[in-house]
Amino acid sequence: MKFETALLHSKNKANRTIKSKATPIYQTSAFTFNNLEELEGFYQGNGNYLYTRVGNPNTDELSEIVARLEEAPTGVTASSGLAAIMAGVLAVAKSGDHIIATDDLYGGSFHLIAEELTQFGIAVSVVPFTNIAEVERAIKANTKLLYTESITNPLLRVEDLEQIVALAKKHNLKTLIDNTFATPFHCKPYLLGVDMVVHSATKYIGGHSDVTAGVIVGTEELMGKALAKVVNLGANLSPFEAWLTARGAKTLALRMKAQSSNAKKVAEAIQMHNYVEKVYYPFIHGEDGFGAMVTITLSDSANVSQFFQSLGWIKIVPTLAGVETSVSHPLTTSHRALPPEKCAELGITEKVIRISVGIEHADDIIAQLAEAIDHSIQS
Ligand SMILES: *Cc1c(COP(=O)(O)O)cnc(C)c1O
Repeated sequence: MKFETALLHSKNKANRTIKSKATPIYQTSAFTFNNLEELEGFYQGNGNYLYTRVGNPNTDELSEIVARLEEAPTGVTASSGLAAIMAGVLAVAKSGDHIIATDDLYGGSFHLIAEELTQFGIAVSVVPFTNIAEVERAIKANTKLLYTESITNPLLRVEDLEQIVALAKKHNLKTLIDNTFATPFHCKPYLLGVDMVVHSATKYIGGHSDVTAGVIVGTEELMGKALAKVVNLGANLSPFEAWLTARGAKTLALRMKAQSSNAKKVAEAIQMHNYVEKVYYPFIHGEDGFGAMVTITLSDSANVSQFFQSLGWIKIVPTLAGVETSVSHPLTTSHRALPPEKCAELGITEKVIRISVGIEHADDIIAQLAEAIDHSIQS
């Protein structure tokens, strides 16, 4: 099946006897059994369901969709992107182990590994994955995992996944790649040899800014372990949210095509603007663009507050990937958790604006942004 078809036709329609066209929502905490043999059958792996924290047809439908799109054997859903990342890390690392993560992770992920996983006794080294030699130097005898993002946030650095996979294989480490920004429409890390691919499905997979959800995909063995973490830690996704996310996912190809094509046009137009110092959009050479996020640095003379006040219908939103164009200020939101020196070193200054390009007409997006940039300079 091609990508666009695979988005719509999942095998898992949860043994339906009533033929509803849309997947029903199994809004139930548990499932019933007619006799003890049926109950025993569940434990023997007959494919029935027991209790929603352990499994539910709606969450299974979503994990199957994402696994199929990533071309990975199987997947697990979780209550958020962070819960999915946590399940992935804990699937391979325990107290006494060490993991290596990139230095410009999404702010919330940085919090998770630096504050919570260290409390579980998992040591963390944070190094720039731009410098693979430095990553290799950080490897210790107890290192278990290399963890980064396929496109980093907010400066949209594209990781060399093949190089990371080769280093991991050389040292017998596992790899975890956050593919939230790229989505499997643009990049499939599992096919490059990555062990686990994780998504904040809150973003492009869901696509409508109405749900918080996470999915991780990989081999049966690793996903079995990740599922155990989700089940035991109670980090499961609710059936309704899984249903909403799976519904949103049906249009992922259409949205990514439209949003990436718009993003390329926005990046091309905005880089001509006098008061824009820098445009981060590494996909400008693609015909339609290979991603829908554009980050810009306004010139020194720009008043950033004035920019944000002059955006008209474009809203300030501390998230991304919805169908509506939105903007955010990484320094004071997503990267608030990062030490100020680190932000300065990475180039995440007060003048950096992250634009999540939507499906409106490109001309309107460009005009509205240009107007706000002009206003940021006045007086
Ligand atoms: C939003 C995001 C997360 C966290 O996901 P939640 O669903 O908010 O828990 C992780 N990684 C990236 C790249 C994100 O954009």
